[in-house]
Amino acid sequence: MASKKILVVEDETDIRKLILYNLAQERYQVLEAEDGEKALRLLQREKLHLIILDLLLPGMSGLELCRALRGRPETARLPILMLTAKAGEADRVVGLEMGADDYLTKPFSPRELVARVKAILRRSDMQVSAREDAGYEKGRLKIDFATYEVTLRGRPVRLTLKEFELLRVLVQNPNRVLSRDRLLDLVWGDETFVTPRTVDVHIRRLRKAIEKNDRKPEWIVTLRGVGYKFDEKAVEA
Ligand code: CA
Repeated sequence: MASKKILVVEDETDIRKLILYNLAQERYQVLEAEDGEKALRLLQREKLHLIILDLLLPGMSGLELCRALRGRPETARLPILMLTAKAGEADRVVGLEMGADDYLTKPFSPRELVARVKAILRRSDMQVSAREDAGYEKGRLKIDFATYEVTLRGRPVRLTLKEFELLRVLVQNPNRVLSRDRLLDLVWGDETFVTPRTVDVHIRRLRKAIEKNDRKPEWIVTLRGVGYKFDEKAVEA
C-alpha cells in the first residue's frame, strides 16, 4: 500500500519539524507549510490524505483555512487534525464545529500525535470504501448497502441492523484480521454498554444466517485470541 501523504501547517518551526520527523519515522510522506496561503497552494497540486493544522497562524487563521477547505468539493472530506493552544477550550469546540475531524492540545507527545493520525486515517479509509461501494457481490452472497438487502443463493437473509453493519465491515475488509476492539469501534462506535463479547454474539448470529454450517464457519473465520477474518476465497468457492 502506498504511504499516505500528510500536510503539516504550523508556523512554529520547532513544532513543525518535530511533527514532520515523527510522521516520517512512521513512513508517511510529509509536506509542510508555515501559513495558510502556502497550504492552499500546495493543496492545488498535491493529493493529500490528511492535514495537521495549527489554529494560530499568521495571516489566514487555521479556522479560516478549515472553513475554506470544507467549502470546496475536492477538499470537503479531507481529514483535518487541528492543533490548539492549551487554554483554547472555545477554539477547540469551534474547530470541531468548523469541520476538523479531531484536535490535539499543545503540548502533545509525538506518540499521541501519531496515534491520532492513525485513527483518523483508519476512519477515513473506512468511509471512503463505504462511499465507493454501493454493494457487494461474491459467489452466492449479494449485499446491497443502500437497501440493506442481503441475499444468499438468491434467497433473502434476515439480519438485524447491527448484524448487517458487522457484515458490511467484514466484506469491506476481506482477508484482513479485525480485532474485536476494532470491530466494536467500526460497528458500534461510541455506543456504551458494549463489550468485546457483544462482537462474539453478533458474529455467532451472523454465522447462523450465512454460513453453510455455523459450527464449522468457513467465511467468518475466528483467529483465536486475535479476532475475526472474512475469507473471501471461501465465499467465491
Ligand atoms: Ca502557531
